[in-house]
Amino acid sequence: MTDSNKGWQECLNFIKKQVDVQSYKTWFEPIRAIDYQDEVLTIQVPNKFFYEWLEEHYLLVLKRAVSQSFSANTSLEYQILIDENRRNNTNSKTTEKSDYEAPTIHNPFVIPGIKKMKIDSQLNPNYIFETFVEGECNKLPSAAGKEIAKKPGSNAFNPLVIYGDVGLGKTHLSQAIGNAVLANNENKQVLYVTTEQFTNQVIQSIKNNNVTDFINFYQMVDVLIVDDIQFLANRAKTQEIFFNIFNQLHQAGKQIILTSDRAPKDLKDVESRLISRFKWGLTAEIESPDLDTRIHILEQKMEKENVKLPDEVKEYICYNLKSNIREIEGVLISLMAQSTLTKKNIDLALARDVVSQFISINSSEISIENIKKLVADHFKLPVDKLQSKTRKRSIVIARQLSMYLAKNYTSNSLKAIGNNFGGRDHSTVLYSLQAVKDLMDTDLLFKDTVNELEKKVNMTFNT
Ligand code: ADP
Ligand code: MG
Repeated sequence: MTDSNKGWQECLNFIKKQVDVQSYKTWFEPIRAIDYQDEVLTIQVPNKFFYEWLEEHYLLVLKRAVSQSFSANTSLEYQILIDENRRNNTNSKTTEKSDYEAPTIHNPFVIPGIKKMKIDSQLNPNYIFETFVEGECNKLPSAAGKEIAKKPGSNAFNPLVIYGDVGLGKTHLSQAIGNAVLANNENKQVLYVTTEQFTNQVIQSIKNNNVTDFINFYQMVDVLIVDDIQFLANRAKTQEIFFNIFNQLHQAGKQIILTSDRAPKDLKDVESRLISRFKWGLTAEIESPDLDTRIHILEQKMEKENVKLPDEVKEYICYNLKSNIREIEGVLISLMAQSTLTKKNIDLALARDVVSQFISINSSEISIENIKKLVADHFKLPVDKLQSKTRKRSIVIARQLSMYLAKNYTSNSLKAIGNNFGGRDHSTVLYSLQAVKDLMDTDLLFKDTVNELEKKVNMTFNT
């Protein structure tokens, strides 16, 4: 029996006494000891999952077994029997020799404090800066993110807290930073976790009695991204452990990136000592994107999906879906699906249909009242000003424009329109229509305003 085999047998005898029979059979019997050299014990496990399971559930017992049977400083390396990537690629359980020779040493797993291991970042490779459209709404967090990617840890933005409403790109941006750090330096240890996952890990580590190992594990991270920290609310133990990890990382100059659906000061049921730390670095909001940014994002998704949409459809979608980019993506996917199923082109009618499944479009019927509201909103005036007697030029223009749109988009008579604007007669309406036409001929800026309002009418109502 070789050294490694003999020592490993001792380890197994020790482990057998520590874990239940089934676990022993499942997780330890299949392990082979391969080599023991320079205080490194190499063991072979069937696959990556196996290794991860061991790491997660049997860290302490392995650590004790190895240090008793070999030496206190022995580190452990895993060898994975089948290279999972290759197996997935060939999609068959091949027994080709090539799968067994020169086994790759995946994630040389190491008992904390002994040897460095590469952490799987858990990042989505599609969430990168190249696919993240920048606009006024996300300028600050995105600029800070790019700085961080250059110099993680050593910048003024530690932690960076990105906050904003759902579907505005917090997860995308925070992961883009992580991906950029790795693109600059693949040796950096980047880890993305949701607060949900983190909480579950805490619960598990308490159950398995290895909280210290858990905290130690996080000390290996250079860039820690924790998503949706509002879910820390009311979780005292998770907050305590996170506080611990946060302090150690921050002190060691490691980068921390957090996202939240609200500003740190508005976090509910989170300890104040944590909140005060969240405010140490930069807190940056992602706001709702403006129309141009929304269109830009939609165009980018269209390119990715390789689909073309008429301009009016693009505008219709982005005009109506203002506050959630995930919904814009949803509409696009739905449109593609519907048009494939019904073999119909994607046109405005289909877009109206699909968009209405995502949001309730309030005033879908066009009426004089609705036009007044739209114009008043555009000029930031109270609606009742439109029917007042005032001769103030800005109000007169807004009133004339409303009449013009009412004439063109509704079937109301001149008399009815006049009645709706403070009881004016039909000749006043006629005069207003002409005034608008004349002004459009001479004032290009005014013409633009009319066009913009017409577009809004088209986008807002079933015309
Ligand atoms: P949040 O985490 O804030 O709820 P996500 O990051 O999950 O939002 O974003 C929702 C979807 O919208 C994702 O598919 C994301 O790629 C996309 N998205 C958000 N913001 C942008 C942006 N600025 N450019 C491109 N895509 C974006
Ligand atoms: Mg998110």
